[in-house]
Amino acid sequence: MGYSRVLEPVMFNRLEVKNRIFRSAHGTYLGRGTIDDADIAYHEARAKSGVGLITLDYTVVHPSAGSLPAIHAWDDAIIPRFKAISDALHRHGCKVFAQAAHGGMHWPHINGSPAISASDLASPWGPVPREMNEDDIEELVAAFGSAARRMRDGGLDGVEVHFGHSYLIHQFLSPTTNIRTDRYGGPLENRLRFGREVLRAVRAACGDDFVVGIRLSDSHATNGLSVNDCEEIVRSLAQEHLIDFINGSMGSYHDLASMVPAMDAPMGCMLPSSGPIVSAANDFRNVVRMVAGRFQTLEEADQLIRDDVADMVAIVRAMIADPNVFSKSVAGKADEVRPCIGCNQACVAGATSGSGLACTVNPAAGREAHLSEDLIVPVAEPLKVVVVGGGPAGLEAARLAAISGHDVVLFEASDRLGGAINHAKRAPNLRPIGDITLWLEREVYSLGVDVRLSTYAEREEILAEEPDAVIIATGSQPRMDGWSADIPGEPTRGTSESNVYSSYEIFDLPREKLGATAVVYDDVGHYEAVAVAEYLIKAGLSVTFITRHSMFAPKMEPTARNAPALRRLREGDFTLVVRGKLVEICQGNCTYGYLEGRQIVTIPADTVVLVSNNRSVTDVHKSLLSRNAAPSFSLQLAGDALSPRDLQAAIREGHMAGRFLEPVVKPAIVTV
Ligand code: SF4
Repeated sequence: MGYSRVLEPVMFNRLEVKNRIFRSAHGTYLGRGTIDDADIAYHEARAKSGVGLITLDYTVVHPSAGSLPAIHAWDDAIIPRFKAISDALHRHGCKVFAQAAHGGMHWPHINGSPAISASDLASPWGPVPREMNEDDIEELVAAFGSAARRMRDGGLDGVEVHFGHSYLIHQFLSPTTNIRTDRYGGPLENRLRFGREVLRAVRAACGDDFVVGIRLSDSHATNGLSVNDCEEIVRSLAQEHLIDFINGSMGSYHDLASMVPAMDAPMGCMLPSSGPIVSAANDFRNVVRMVAGRFQTLEEADQLIRDDVADMVAIVRAMIADPNVFSKSVAGKADEVRPCIGCNQACVAGATSGSGLACTVNPAAGREAHLSEDLIVPVAEPLKVVVVGGGPAGLEAARLAAISGHDVVLFEASDRLGGAINHAKRAPNLRPIGDITLWLEREVYSLGVDVRLSTYAEREEILAEEPDAVIIATGSQPRMDGWSADIPGEPTRGTSESNVYSSYEIFDLPREKLGATAVVYDDVGHYEAVAVAEYLIKAGLSVTFITRHSMFAPKMEPTARNAPALRRLREGDFTLVVRGKLVEICQGNCTYGYLEGRQIVTIPADTVVLVSNNRSVTDVHKSLLSRNAAPSFSLQLAGDALSPRDLQAAIREGHMAGRFLEPVVKPAIVTV
């Protein structure tokens, strides 16, 4: 694949960036307040691939920005760490910016005192800030300037001041979060005053040669900061020569899904906001226009540049999923790029949970120092490795064992690879989840794994291979006995009725069998039941969604996918019951109640889908255990066969099981 524009250099002020792909800032929270070796290894892996510019993590300028484990740039102790990371990235010809930010209303001061903001209006995340007075404003303006100076002294090439995503400066900009009546409130020019003073302080602290720009988004919320307001802001700041670049984005914490669009959003979904924001700089040729929008490929980026939508394009999550997206694409191997599935599970929910950035499909993300696949050295004496199960855990195990140089046989009982993902990807808005198993399938074939489909491997078949190592990844099956985690002593009655289905079966049913009404019972709280409900709503059924949890899909909530799903569900005939219990299922109806209280309700239900925690499939493992008392091969369980969890756990465990094989293993069972 040739690219006509994306490989051209671009000038920021007096700085040349070698191509037009950048990795924009996002929270990794790996360094927990500083920049540690894991953080450097994470960023360096992307720089090594050839990307022109990396903007480091969300970096806070003052202790009042809160205890979020972002990079702290409020004292000079950070300068040597900036130096370490800029040296590491510069070695690969990659330019480095940092993002100067302050969370404002969203987090309390690091010392526990209240959050601060333009006004005393509560954050959607809970804190109620105190309104900043003019002394606070002066202190914060100076803090942004000092933080930028530390970035420059640490060898970074530029600073991006965060004007977007409902952080502090955006809280001043938006009329829904700024109700001040002084010179920092009221008309847009007043609401921009704080941000303008920040940029003047940054310019004064760093000099005119240092690259300075902003990230800006609309609020994507009723009566918030509009796209038109953003355009006016860009023109005003560019006229005063306060910015060398504009990085256009979309959304705020008042509509989180617009800020971090997931697999249900199309490529380019942020362009309705980011596009006009950057085009406001069209008349200022010294201002570089940068856009984000869930772009995954250099081809998409090239198109945007050819169409003069932007000068540079962000590729972020695709670069988390595969650090080599740039080099593979330039080498004409774009089809070898491990796909980001847009789940937001490990990179968004995981990073903010406190465990630091990870990736569902790439177990090495954030752990490059130990798990980068560049560290794999093929073994001198290959082992015979048998993998049982061709779902995500088995595929990843087979891939890693093959990369490590082993001789691998993969048994799969069905006639295709992919496991449970083959069911999930059939749900509306979950199709991208199938991209990863498709990629794994291609990889195992191209690595020469001996794949045997339609082969239910019993112990005889496995032993006939004379294996040195066996990895059992036989997955799990839905539990259909009505057992509920909250009320284990009160299983649902009537689960053997013919109108009761699992989440695996429902997508195969002909429409006429579904009827007009459905009940989806969710014991798990993740995306499975949501996917089923969306499928049934789309098929035109009236759906009652009963969950034992206090809220809709609590495990999916941190991925910013709940609100869009509820929006789609409520376009149909959808009823949500929280803290519910499914009492009894009959033909044509079912009875539910509540975990608290005695009220019982009977509703029509032509179809009932039970989404309960699965049960591991372990019969092959057990049969091998009995024959492996005096170990002749290592035996491992991975993924759902060990314990039913999610895709991230399955791929991680498959990775570890296939990668770290021992030639002789004692004791017989090694679990991961
Ligand atoms: Fe993409 Fe999911 Fe990985 Fe995030 S965790 S980078 S959304 S695959």
